[in-house]
Amino acid sequence: MILNAVISIIVYSKREKQQVEDIILKYEAIAEFEDLSVGEREHFAYTIKVGYSPEVVQSCLSDLNKLDNHIQDTADYFGFSFDYEEKDYTSSPLFFIQSIGNKAGLYIKSQKLKLEVFCHHCNRKKIEDGQKPVIDANKLIKNPILYVDHSLVISEILAEKLHNSGLSGYDLVEVEHNGKKEAAVKGYQIRPTNKLAPQCIPYKYLDDPYINNQSNRCPICKLGGHLFAPYYYNPEDLKEIKDFNYTYEYKDYNFVHRKILISKRVVDLFKDQNYINNIVKRFEPGGDKHWVLEPILINSDC
Ligand SMILES: [Zn+2]
Repeated sequence: MILNAVISIIVYSKREKQQVEDIILKYEAIAEFEDLSVGEREHFAYTIKVGYSPEVVQSCLSDLNKLDNHIQDTADYFGFSFDYEEKDYTSSPLFFIQSIGNKAGLYIKSQKLKLEVFCHHCNRKKIEDGQKPVIDANKLIKNPILYVDHSLVISEILAEKLHNSGLSGYDLVEVEHNGKKEAAVKGYQIRPTNKLAPQCIPYKYLDDPYINNQSNRCPICKLGGHLFAPYYYNPEDLKEIKDFNYTYEYKDYNFVHRKILISKRVVDLFKDQNYINNIVKRFEPGGDKHWVLEPILINSDC
């Protein structure tokens, strides 16, 4: 995995454009460039991807600040991009499903969702335990796999196939139907029964000044912000994994939740049944039925 920082800048003259190009060369960065000039008005947009270390980013942000003083030396002015390599995918025993397809109808919210306070300091909420998702189950006719509040909900037919597959580490919880028409199909939420050990994040991430000083990160629950480490696990802690697993850690989004990591056997099951027609890497453009998977990485030093 190669960790890059992604920085955007817009400049408004050919002279400044050349200066950006010089900075790109200086840091051996790669960049996407768009000429947005209209008539006499020069307008050049760059997205610069530079190999990440706190020192390199600090220096690069400072150089770019001379061209655009809006760019400051803080975490708010760049993002991380994890560029996974082929070997990361082939060696990974578990994957996070970043996307189940590039189609809005695949991602829905449960109705009547009850939330409770997760952190009293930042007031982040989590879903109350033991709730069933409430959805229009007929949506599963068109899309037999849905992401409902960060969990997978599948059609009855697919649930049957999953049941017969011998995969481990889950319960199927029937969803409650609430829609204009009677439910023509049943839906089931896949609820992992296995919780993984805490991650084994390398010290370079734990000590990273930009990650630790993000303006919207809560000092108590440590959630919030847009910079975070990829998934790292100690191999010792991966001996007891199942096909469906919850992470020990919570992640923040519209509410905090444990992420679900699945085995390759799960991916293969859905793929064999033609519910996935392709698997793409993170940040590659995906189609309607393309799954985007993120592998986990190994670290023993924790
Ligand atoms: Zn908090």
